Amino acid sequence: MVRFENVTKSYGALTVLDQLNLDIERNEKVSIIGPSGSGKTTVLRMLMTLERINDGVIWVDGEPLTHMDRNGTMVKASERHLRRVRGKIGMVFQHFNLFPHMTALQNCIEAPVSVLGLSRAEAEARAAELLDMVGLGDKKGHFPIQMSGGQKQRVAIARALAMRPKVMLFDEVTSALDPELVGEVLNVIRQLGAEHDLTMLMVTHQMGFAKEFSDRVCFFYGGKIAEQGPPDKLFNDPDNDRTRQFLSAVL
Ligand code: ADP
Repeated sequence: MVRFENVTKSYGALTVLDQLNLDIERNEKVSIIGPSGSGKTTVLRMLMTLERINDGVIWVDGEPLTHMDRNGTMVKASERHLRRVRGKIGMVFQHFNLFPHMTALQNCIEAPVSVLGLSRAEAEARAAELLDMVGLGDKKGHFPIQMSGGQKQRVAIARALAMRPKVMLFDEVTSALDPELVGEVLNVIRQLGAEHDLTMLMVTHQMGFAKEFSDRVCFFYGGKIAEQGPPDKLFNDPDNDRTRQFLSAVL
């Protein structure tokens, strides 16, 4: 479903992703952990095509986000192609990024109408269903300012799902929440994983959740995957010294 093939991303002299290889199967749940600055968020940003990569190829659902031109140089795909591939991906951010002047329901309707071309009635029915699913059936008319962080994040999840993605990306989605609100958001993610055909890729500091939820955990260090494996193995019996050091510092 997702493939990074020798992907390098630099900002000036700083190499953030260093010939990264990563394959994610359809419906697989993968967590990315690692120290600050190791390139975790950059992986998600590259997948969302928010920025160009310097080298390598990223594939989503069998389609490349770049292609070779006649001279064998890697070039970015056309905007039209990128929009289509990007449409397969939903992303949820640390800071919710909801439209402040729209209600929960309107937040979930805007893109399906303007991007997917759904009728308002269709989009509204689907949005209502998704808000019910994330436990916010009674908050459809609320504006972001009237909601808690956990509720806003659940609206953000419903909004991403309204675009019918095949892949969901979660970028430290509980980091900005008060501790007592973390559980309600993780519960929604857990339920999504169990009940829907979705490939899920999550950057997280919630080690307990990563352990319980993921099929596979990738430990990033210096823009590469230093170690990856099933959560039981990686958390209980890591092979790499850096993984061990990181885990002993955060657990
Ligand atoms: P992580 O998510 O693991 O904390 P990031 O992927 O956010 O790490 O960032 C990796 C490195 O890239 C960091 O050193 C960060 O400062 C740098 N970086 C990220 N975005 C930019 C940017 N737009 N310009 C310059 N450096 C950046």
